[in-house]
Amino acid sequence: MRVVRTAEEMRALCRAAKARSGCLGFVPTMGALHAGHLSLVRAARTKSAVVAASIFVNPAQFGPEEDYTRYPRNLERDCGLFENEGVELVFAPEAGEMYREDSASWVIVDGLSDRLCGRSRPGHFRGVATVVAKLFHIVEPDVAFFGQKDAAQVAIIGRMVRDLKFALAIEVCPIVREPDGLALSSRNAYLGPAERKAALVLFRSLERARGLFEGGERNSFELMQAARHEFLVEPAVRLDYFEVVDPDSLEPQPEISKKTLVAVAAYIGCTRLIDNILLEP
Ligand code: AMP
Repeated sequence: MRVVRTAEEMRALCRAAKARSGCLGFVPTMGALHAGHLSLVRAARTKSAVVAASIFVNPAQFGPEEDYTRYPRNLERDCGLFENEGVELVFAPEAGEMYREDSASWVIVDGLSDRLCGRSRPGHFRGVATVVAKLFHIVEPDVAFFGQKDAAQVAIIGRMVRDLKFALAIEVCPIVREPDGLALSSRNAYLGPAERKAALVLFRSLERARGLFEGGERNSFELMQAARHEFLVEPAVRLDYFEVVDPDSLEPQPEISKKTLVAVAAYIGCTRLIDNILLEP
């Protein structure tokens, strides 16, 4: 496995790997790897001859008050995990390699970027779309793998790929959870034991919505009411949003008459966590 620091070298190695083996799969991450990330690598291995991954904590997607500086970083451990999973190329650039000081170009996916997490994290999805576009230009993958965990990201990257005519396919992989239901996240490492317990309210609220849906409820407002109620009994957790939306446009969906995304975000102390489920009538 090669760990590559510059865009130029990464592009050359990816082109050579593609020429040699055919299909190139790509898994972009911010590191602090867990089983969710590794599930993407496994999916990539089954669907592509060579797998490239990236580890880059992207400053452009963090707000000024957010956790960019304290985001967990452990390149050596992450590279060991990637190597065990059969990743061939790891791109781990410094911030200056991805953003020159006079960098002035951004990718904005209008409308979608202001919904769900984009509302409480202004500029977040501009940062995400921009860095993913850059990574796609550097790696030039045939298939890129993303987790359903970041459902809004999936919608935004899918739209960007379609609109800007990137020549690649997107594969979305299911959410990997702890045995008690908590979605794996690099940010779970911030949680103390009491917070870890309180964090389960995200999963509980989604399960409550799913239960109502399975009982025949199709009115989104009823699902949202019931789910928000779960948060009232967990005062240590501050609900950011609980929404029922179209998975592609991220627009509110009042009735669940087709595939629907139910998404939640909440703060447990200073830690912001997200989770979601898809409902299909
Ligand atoms: P991150 O390092 O948080 O930017 O995540 C990198 C990729 O891993 C994204 O496509 C995420 O959606 C995906 N991912 C993160 N957590 C999970 C999870 N629990 N299950 C599946 N995929 C995940």
